[in-house]
Amino acid sequence: MTETKIALVTGANKGIGYEIAAQLAALGMTVVIGARDAHRREQAAKELNAESVALDVTEPETARQAAAWIDERFGKLDVLVNNAGITGGWGQEPSKVPLDVMRRVFDTNVFGVITVTNAVLPLLSRSAGARIVNVSSGVGSLTEMTGQYAAMPAGAAYPVSKTALNALTVQYAKELRESGILVNATDPGYCDTDLTEHKGFRTPAQGAAISVRLATIGDDGPTGRFFNDEGEVAW
Ligand code: NDP
Repeated sequence: MTETKIALVTGANKGIGYEIAAQLAALGMTVVIGARDAHRREQAAKELNAESVALDVTEPETARQAAAWIDERFGKLDVLVNNAGITGGWGQEPSKVPLDVMRRVFDTNVFGVITVTNAVLPLLSRSAGARIVNVSSGVGSLTEMTGQYAAMPAGAAYPVSKTALNALTVQYAKELRESGILVNATDPGYCDTDLTEHKGFRTPAQGAAISVRLATIGDDGPTGRFFNDEGEVAW
């Protein structure tokens, strides 16, 4: 089995995921870009000298096939960054949000993370000290009424999906406590990407840094916690 660390980053063909892939590759890891859009996926892989695999996190069969491909190619996985995410649109207050929007956002941001994580968990278990990073958001924090996002309009689908992702992070961390696999959630901050219609004030590279840090923490590092660049974020 190769000594080189193998990292799978979902939704890495653009935005923050692309920068996470670039920064992990710069650290010497072999990065696998898992994404839907074939053209952007191949383009990103070429630019980053990375591998790429077809992956729609809402389609369990593609996750199974991606895991089988990584197994055949590398026999293990050291880092999983669950970055792929969608908003479903802003301004959808709980009293107005269509249920199909809630379902669609949860399908990608929560169920997609379970699908991909469970598909590659046997590969992560073969690594000496694997890391899982779930790219969450500060708007998922339950302290939002008084915290830094207090002034943001109410939303149901996206913030609640990230709250669920944070809860899921804790449960995976508990389950994997004895395995050496550390599982944490990250908040990239408000970044200039397609998802924010380029209104964010941080660069995607700045947003990527905290996930790269958590993907590379030592064996005595935290697990089941939630971080941004400044430190731990309240749940
Ligand atoms: P982008 O819209 O730029 O990129 C999203 C990525 O996710 C794309 O590569 C997209 O691929 C992929 N994706 C979406 N759905 C799926 C799917 N079903 N299967 C596989 N890939 C999928 O968004 P950002 O880079 O801004 O967001 C990345 C993460 O960071 C998200 O989880 C987001 O919630 C989080 N985040 C972002 C913030 C920001 O300010 N930008 C703030 C806080 C959190 P495709 O090309 O195939 O659509």
